[in-house]
Amino acid sequence: MRRPPLSPKLAGLGTTIFAEMSALAVETGAINLGQGFPDEDGPVEVADAAIAAIRGGVNQYPPGPGIGELRIAIANHQARFWGMAVDPGTEVLVTAGATEAVAAAVLALCDPGDEIIAFEPTYDSYTAVAAMAGARLRPVTLTPPAYDANIDALEGLVTERTRLVLLNSPHNPTGKVFTVPELEAIARVCVDHDLIAVTDEVYEHLVFDGEHRPLATFPGMADRTLTISSAGKTFSFTGWKIGWVCGSEELVTAVRTAKQFITYVNGAPFQPAIAVGLGLGDDFYTQLAKTLQHKRDVLCDGLRTAGFDVFVPQGTYFATVDIRSVGGDDGLAFCRELPKRCGVVAIPSSVFYEDPATGRHLVRFAFCKRTEVLTEAAERLALLAR
Ligand code: PMP
Ligand code: GLN
Repeated sequence: MRRPPLSPKLAGLGTTIFAEMSALAVETGAINLGQGFPDEDGPVEVADAAIAAIRGGVNQYPPGPGIGELRIAIANHQARFWGMAVDPGTEVLVTAGATEAVAAAVLALCDPGDEIIAFEPTYDSYTAVAAMAGARLRPVTLTPPAYDANIDALEGLVTERTRLVLLNSPHNPTGKVFTVPELEAIARVCVDHDLIAVTDEVYEHLVFDGEHRPLATFPGMADRTLTISSAGKTFSFTGWKIGWVCGSEELVTAVRTAKQFITYVNGAPFQPAIAVGLGLGDDFYTQLAKTLQHKRDVLCDGLRTAGFDVFVPQGTYFATVDIRSVGGDDGLAFCRELPKRCGVVAIPSSVFYEDPATGRHLVRFAFCKRTEVLTEAAERLALLAR
């Protein structure tokens, strides 16, 4: 019999929930608070720099590691915000978004049978890319409302097959910002068991409560950590797909080896534009967090008025609710119905758990939208309370 086209290693991955829910929003005309992307463009000077680059002929393959100007801007950014010393010549690689950086890191570092420990709910690409590498994701569950990191559980999962700890902070979908004691403890586990850490810090500038600290800045971590981020969230240009990874020359070279056969290079005219963005003054970064914090509060108030138990995020642009508070129990069914019931689209958090039953009652709403859109969404959601 003919083999099915999809390799068994990808069996069950299906269509991403983001695509399904964005298509549902288009089909029903509902307000899309599902897939996280802003409904306003980022800084005009950054957009102008990209236009100027296209007009100026920056349209052919850029250098493999990314253009020098952007790598210098990334290294300066790491020093300016996080006190990290990164050599732009050898310790920075530009990627097609953080998604490719995570994928290339996992494919470069993991062999079939290796294990990756991550806190769940996990961003959906982690499980998929672990599967592509033949590796296995071992989750440690974060439970609301506190989402405390259970370090004993993390350490308990370490075996001789453990290759990576994959940490996302600020964390999608919970909005948790890992605390300094938690990061210290995670670093200690990595050092004690000689593990490599891969950190996804795409929401590094979207923090309202608490403080973001890269895991790489903790004792013993600089040479064993790949720090990943992206321009998508910081500059509200999610479609440009410019990301980066920083780390020791040895680790970054490994990631580049995989990246060069995935996309080879990416986004030539967007690279100088993001270099302009990374050089913007502190005001830009402060204002970004302040504006989003207000949006968070508007959405969370609306969700509470609609009768939801809301787990208020410390960072990112997502808020999670427990739908049992409005009489629901199956988040997937709830999200498929929500556009019909009140004209809003959200994401069922169950898709971010190894066992979907763990997050069955949780639903995620994005608040990276214009305030009037959030207000309108809140009014529509209030219909659920009637
Ligand atoms: N990691 C996390 C935690 C995310 O939420 C996202 C969402 N975009 C990504 C990675 C992907 O980033 P990029 O668009 O830069 O690939
Ligand atoms: N990071 C965004 C989210 O979590 C977008 C995800 C995506 O488009 N793959 O919603």
